[in-house]
Amino acid sequence: MRSHRDKYNLILQEVARSGRQWNESISKQVFADESFADLNVESPDFGDFSWQGTLGVEAGQFVLSGKWKLQVPRACSKCNGVFVDVLSGEIDEHYIIEPKHEEMQAELELTGNEPEALESGELDVLAALREHFWLAWQPMVVCDRACKGLCLQCGVDLNKGSCDCHKQVKENAFAALKNLKFDA
Ligand SMILES: [Zn+2]
Ligand SMILES: [Zn+2]
Repeated sequence: MRSHRDKYNLILQEVARSGRQWNESISKQVFADESFADLNVESPDFGDFSWQGTLGVEAGQFVLSGKWKLQVPRACSKCNGVFVDVLSGEIDEHYIIEPKHEEMQAELELTGNEPEALESGELDVLAALREHFWLAWQPMVVCDRACKGLCLQCGVDLNKGSCDCHKQVKENAFAALKNLKFDA
């Protein structure tokens, strides 16, 4: 049986002309590495990484392209409530095996693409997918555009209830005003 490491660690020199195809769910245990330590990977709301993609050869470059999707539990930055967010994206990455000849380099410069040069020809597909996931990651998210958040004074979740803090501030301000003495 091939290990996950073999499955997603490719040697570009060994990739067949027909390329590679994926249409699978990469289990979160395999996908989430130490960079996911702050995320609640154990939660049942944290999904497996859905990946439909191909690795092909185009004009001397290796092209990794496809679509991915991952469901992640998140905490709303306004009300702290946990909700399920779905991140997704498309990938179109170009790679070359580090060119040895000046001629090859000149040819690449003409194409205008900026492929990533892999010296050894080793491509870690999982690492590339993780990179795209983190590019799509938003540090601050809200459960709903209409989320009212927490009251800054008493901490009540204003989506679920209300408080009198706002009213009191107004009253206090008015009372303060009344107590002002004016020099006549
Ligand atoms: Zn919220
Ligand atoms: Zn309040």
